[in-house]
Amino acid sequence: MKFDILTLFPPMFDGPLTESIIRRAVERGLVNISLHNIRDYATDRHRVVDDAPYGGGDGMVMKVEPLAACIEAVKAERPAARVILTTPRGRRFDHDAARELAGYEELIIVCGRYEGIDERVRDLFVDEEFSIGDFVLTGGELAAMVMVDAVIRFIPGALGSPGSAECDSFADGLLEYPQYTRPVEFRGTRVPDVLLSGNHAEVARWRRQKALELTRRVRPDLLHGAELSGRDRDYLTTLGREEEP
Ligand code: SAM
Repeated sequence: MKFDILTLFPPMFDGPLTESIIRRAVERGLVNISLHNIRDYATDRHRVVDDAPYGGGDGMVMKVEPLAACIEAVKAERPAARVILTTPRGRRFDHDAARELAGYEELIIVCGRYEGIDERVRDLFVDEEFSIGDFVLTGGELAAMVMVDAVIRFIPGALGSPGSAECDSFADGLLEYPQYTRPVEFRGTRVPDVLLSGNHAEVARWRRQKALELTRRVRPDLLHGAELSGRDRDYLTTLGREEEP
């Protein structure tokens, strides 16, 4: 899968996209990430990429011409690529969005800065807009890194253990069960006995129940869209009864 990231600050991507799982995915040829400096596409002497907003107001707006030239140059190489804009007004980026984007061979991600981009960039070039949450970042770079990281986890072969992505939180609509590793005891707290029992069926049952309990406690909204069996529903009813006065 190919990612082309359009940014005014390419060095920001050193580290997050050059270490660990992403680095290995790149080295194995599963992923290709190219950074493009939007400023390289400014044509004036001072390489200006922003200007004051029409109508007045605070801050600066990213100019349409350098962004258009940058997007068009990348698109010339990748005509089928989907163009994504990072913006607080976009669709909320979540588990399903990450899985969906992993289905594309090529993504172009545009990182905004300042007060945002000239609206005509959206109108002319952008296929889809994504927000990583209801808050405002200083720029789209961190949003792009979050999105690339989450998408790469869905690329077959990118993760160390093949089933990981499918067992993680949100995969079946629930949060993941609690995890433990050695030692068995730490400062008076013990790993639950069932996890030491070697009984795989019991371990699976405990994990499912903990996932249900946890989701019900901290993200009850997720239960509406979760894939629940009759047994899951019975368990949730039991939990409800336990709380009744
Ligand atoms: N004036 C804009 C507004 O009120 O919606 C905010 C602009 S923000 C300071 C600059 C850039 O950061 C945006 O163009 C976008 O690319 C990025 N950005 C900020 N918050 C974001 C979010 N929650 N998700 C994705 N990108 C975001």
